[in-house]
Amino acid sequence: MQRIEHIYINGEFVIPQGREWFDLHNPSNEEVIGQVRLGDASDAQRAIAAAKAAFPAWSRSRREDRIAALQRMHRAVAAREDELLEAIVLEYGAPVVRGRWMATYPADVIAQAIEALQAFEFEEHAGMAKVILTPVGVTGLITPWNSNAGFICNKLATALAAGCTAVIKPSEMSALQTQVVLKALHEAELPPGVFNIVNGRGDVVGEEIARHPDVAKISFTGSSAIGQHLIKAGADTMKRVTLELGGKSPTVVLDDADFPAVIPLVLQAGFLNSGQACIAGTRILVPRSRLAEFETVAKEGVSRFQSGDPRAPDTDIGPMVSQKQWERVQRYIRIGQEEGARLLAGGEGRPEGRHAGWFVKPTIFTDADNRMRIAREEIFGPVLTIIPYEDDAEAISIANDTDYGLSALVLGKSPERCASIARQIDSGRVLINTLAHEPRAPFGGFKHSGLGREMGRWGMSEYLEPKTLITG
Ligand code: NAD
Repeated sequence: MQRIEHIYINGEFVIPQGREWFDLHNPSNEEVIGQVRLGDASDAQRAIAAAKAAFPAWSRSRREDRIAALQRMHRAVAAREDELLEAIVLEYGAPVVRGRWMATYPADVIAQAIEALQAFEFEEHAGMAKVILTPVGVTGLITPWNSNAGFICNKLATALAAGCTAVIKPSEMSALQTQVVLKALHEAELPPGVFNIVNGRGDVVGEEIARHPDVAKISFTGSSAIGQHLIKAGADTMKRVTLELGGKSPTVVLDDADFPAVIPLVLQAGFLNSGQACIAGTRILVPRSRLAEFETVAKEGVSRFQSGDPRAPDTDIGPMVSQKQWERVQRYIRIGQEEGARLLAGGEGRPEGRHAGWFVKPTIFTDADNRMRIAREEIFGPVLTIIPYEDDAEAISIANDTDYGLSALVLGKSPERCASIARQIDSGRVLINTLAHEPRAPFGGFKHSGLGREMGRWGMSEYLEPKTLITG
């Protein structure tokens, strides 16, 4: 049983003013494994004041000094990879293979921020003017539970690289991961106040950060509903915002695709991170002329996906993060049946043999219509929906008939045809016959999937304000 009492302000571990203790659970057996003491609005204010005081010196620091600081951060976070893996599996229930990736990603993403900083042009010429990119100020960084450590490191490394200081409000449900990252960041010996971490509720600590006049910018990853709220909350103080939000990503299977060859990609895209991934390919668009054939192959493929103990090496899908999330997924499985979609695999309840833990059966609906709620709303669990289409034009139209636009996958034999379809899909990212990730490219969403971009020079630019100098 871990008790996490401290938050981090001005380079020190301090006890928050907030007195509420929040239970942390092991989603594999539902037991309480720890408690975290939550900060309140006054804790957020202290953290913002520390970040404000640290800003003048940090914003004027030299590129080499920032690179050195980020390198110390990278080394310290990388050294705690195994500890982080243990926290991710215990507190989040990630299967170990996925968990290992999630434990290496935080250090990797710091290395990528270093690379972006090394290559970044802070001054450019535009006609007779010199354009200087200047750090926006104190930033508020708010992260979700489905990749808490990764998002803390990505947002913080980019903000610091740009010359900003930060107050981080991590997910309250991920306090073990936050604690591991925090210990590493402390060891990196950054100047006091350049980063501060306040555990707390979204509607208390998050809200204070979102409304505070001394916070110039919010970078948020989480649900679209909270993202929309943050735009409104920040309007009075004219905050800059970067939002990485939800998705309902299409996987377009073309009529020339080799189904047995592509089905592993279809299912991996859909069940990514136990289905709790913003980029999960949850709408599978299949040519109606080959629907029955696709269903046979998909059913066979999903039967090999194991949902169970995250520590077992052959587990593909771990538990849902919380009881609330488990109930939400169950509700959508009922909704899908009520809407008239046909259950091809899975269904309500826990997988066979499991009596505790927030486990879900990998579930696939077929013969669905894109107007159904299971095709429109983000479920955030291992529930996929097959939607038949007549021709390429209809496939593109269904792919784009969504509020979201974060990621898409196109699968087919002809590279030219796939590329042509990819260009017509309204999405921040379109993958063709691959699930590869390119950290140097911008990441973010169209429409309700977000605002702005992270990663590479695009991510850095989000923390900078262009200033035009014209000399007479
Ligand atoms: P969430 O929106 O419920 O919470 C995210 C964070 O916002 C948490 O730290 C929470 O405490 C905080 N928050 C809640 N209310 C707030 C308020 N009023 N003011 C300020 N902060 C507040 O999301 P979640 O359930 O933690 O994460 C799942 C969601 O995140 C999904 O919708 C998923 O698609 C999305 N997500 C998006 C990406 C991406 O890169 N696009 C990546 C991962 C997750």
